Amino acid sequence: MNTHTENHPFDYDLFVIGAGSGGVRASRIASQLGAKVAVAEDLYLGGTCVNVGCVPKKLFVYGSHFHEDFEAAKGFGWSFDNLKFNWETLRDNKTEEVERLNGIYDNILGNAGVEIIRGTARLIAENTIDVEGRTITAKNILIATGSWPRKPNYPGVEHTIDSNAFFYLEKLPKRVIVEGGGYIAVEFAGILNALGCDTELVYRGPLFLRNFDEDVRHFIAEQMQLKGVKLSFNTQIQSVAKQEDGSLQVSVGSAEQNEVRVVDSLITAIGREPKVQGLGLEALGIEQKQNGSIVVDDNFQTNVPGIFALGDVIGRMQLTPVALAEGMALARHLFNGQAINMDYENIATAVFCQPNIGTVGYTEARARELNYSLEIYKSSFKPMKHTISGIEEFTFMKLIVDKDSRKVLGVHMVGPDAGEIIQGIAIAIKAGATKEDFDSTIGIHPTAAEEFVTMREPVKE
Ligand code: FAD
Ligand code: NDP
Repeated sequence: MNTHTENHPFDYDLFVIGAGSGGVRASRIASQLGAKVAVAEDLYLGGTCVNVGCVPKKLFVYGSHFHEDFEAAKGFGWSFDNLKFNWETLRDNKTEEVERLNGIYDNILGNAGVEIIRGTARLIAENTIDVEGRTITAKNILIATGSWPRKPNYPGVEHTIDSNAFFYLEKLPKRVIVEGGGYIAVEFAGILNALGCDTELVYRGPLFLRNFDEDVRHFIAEQMQLKGVKLSFNTQIQSVAKQEDGSLQVSVGSAEQNEVRVVDSLITAIGREPKVQGLGLEALGIEQKQNGSIVVDDNFQTNVPGIFALGDVIGRMQLTPVALAEGMALARHLFNGQAINMDYENIATAVFCQPNIGTVGYTEARARELNYSLEIYKSSFKPMKHTISGIEEFTFMKLIVDKDSRKVLGVHMVGPDAGEIIQGIAIAIKAGATKEDFDSTIGIHPTAAEEFVTMREPVKE
């Protein structure tokens, strides 16, 4: 279905609010399918992922890992002295790359025929948007405004910084606390520690990474501690005070006691809230959940006809590839008549901590909750590189197998490049691979990944 603008009164067939992962993909595909499309953006093209998310984070992970690589090289005969790290170089080269990507997004949208409108968009009526004083009409409106870091509310919170500011820190802190126990806290703690900062992760619960497999959570906690990250669980930040020399006095409390830490920076990473403030949702009666995320049906349609939402703002899975897939599906639905059937099962994900976590499918706990009868395979070992590198780092792998169908329901790994390895395995899981398919696959030797096809003995129940 190709909507022709000349026969209807709207300025655009599709108006997208937010040029992030989901918004860019939806507008580009819609335009390529013949729709007249505009996208409003008030901060940066490419959204969170490109500017203050996946991309700069991964560059920092690479940058920080060199320290250990240099150490490991000594075991292989290399020697060098005068090793130095310059934060400004890493930060600024990262920013240059982000700016290059901003330009690429500008071109991608321009070449696809999407009009980019710089400014903050707000819904003022069905089919009508305001962008800083300019009134625009559209047959379909897509809200793809993403999410924003949640702020804690203890005294002195104004002295803390969030993930956005981390990417632009003027100076690398010598002593730092990262607050939270999710993806961002764990990744940032890994980066900061590897860059030589005295790093403590403070998490309110008994063990971080709540929705990950429990073995993985314990294993990565051990690995992070081996590398020198201080992990303080069952601990909450109570207040922060800035001292005269600029350092922060942080009061932390656990069931046992209250303590004070002195650090140079406190980075909060306690989740992200849907970015909906000032969007005009209330006036139009657009239904939201208690946490503000926009309620949509299976077709990303809100309760107001013609207004759609996807990506982080709907609060399903806050991952770039998910927002991309949703954006693609909606554009094809609206302008090519294709049915939407987003499948949220078996979405692989990685935490770029050091070493990585890679995971696809059910955790053991989830599979048990669903009453599967299970066979569990586990393996942990020192990867070959570290047999002579002098680095104390171990790899963990786990397979969760349904005894009845023999299907592999979950695959989990902690180890170097787990994200890269699990991406390939995710295809097998999506295709319904059984344990016997894994077993009949010949390994690639010598790799760590071959362990996934050579695990023969299930864990005794
Ligand atoms: P966004 O990408 O946030 O885009 C929304 C856009 O809308 C923004 O550019 C915003 O400025 C704009 N906007 C908002 N309101 C308005 C308005 N009223 N008018 C005009 N414009 C507006 N995901 C992964 O898959 N892998 C990772 O490794 C990963 N790492 C991450 C690391 C960090 C530190 C963070 C914070 C996130 C990370 N994510 C990662 C998550 C990923 O970035 C998000 O899931 C993804 O960007 C969501 O896309 P989106 O299109 O929904 O929103
Ligand atoms: P997460 O949702 O992953 O984790 C939030 C953490 O903050 C949890 O440990 C949570 O604890 C804790 N928390 C929540 N509220 C409070 C509070 N009031 N006080 C103290 N702690 C609190 O959020 P992140 O901010 O880490 O990341 C946001 C999202 O971005 C992720 O969920 C992920 O989808 C995406 N992302 C993806 C990455 C990747 O793919 N590699 C990397 C970075 C981000 P509890 O568990 O007890 O509720």
